[in-house]
Amino acid sequence: MDNHSISVLISEDELAKRINELGEKINEDYEGKEVTLICILKGSIFFTCELAKRIHVPVIIDFIQASSYGSGTTSSGTVKIKKDLDESIEGKDVIIIEDIIDSGNTLSKLIPLLEERKPASLEVCTLLDKPERREVEVNVKYNGFNIPDEFVVGYGLDYDQKYRNLPFIGVLHMDEN
Ligand code: 5GP
Ligand code: MG
Ligand code: MG
Repeated sequence: MDNHSISVLISEDELAKRINELGEKINEDYEGKEVTLICILKGSIFFTCELAKRIHVPVIIDFIQASSYGSGTTSSGTVKIKKDLDESIEGKDVIIIEDIIDSGNTLSKLIPLLEERKPASLEVCTLLDKPERREVEVNVKYNGFNIPDEFVVGYGLDYDQKYRNLPFIGVLHMDEN
């Protein structure tokens, strides 16, 4: 059936170190403010929790789940909100927390939907970015790591809903036989 193996791309220690740096940057940029982190379910859960622990200005955490309807394995077409935020973001300083940006389609559709709600500011923080794969430009303020065009799992990211619990980012290798 499905034979595959996983090799470590970004270790637990490297993740912790980089997320710490991102937290410090956010602390500087949002000094004296309150920040609302929007966790995009499900992939961003671990990243959101780890990042939030390193932020020392007041933090609100909310969750949104988007589903993209398109053909094939790449996201395309329309993005629908499957689970919406609980709170209003009007007048709030908001950071969207994403696990990985690939084509950019999901965020390029989600950002305008959130902008309609009139936040005071809206920025994007992604743990991973695959710049080679970009189809639509997305303005990313905080980026953990640029990675090559490989399918990765772990630290929230899944393959068929599995491997989210791995404490590192790994590359999924499909075996030929
Ligand atoms: P985009 O709309 O930018 O093409 O896709 C972003 C979403 O596709 C991510 O939030 C993630 O859910 C999924 N995705 C893209 N690349 C990968 C990958 O390498 N591994 C996993 N597990 N999901 C990915
Ligand atoms: Mg995602
Ligand atoms: Mg997925």
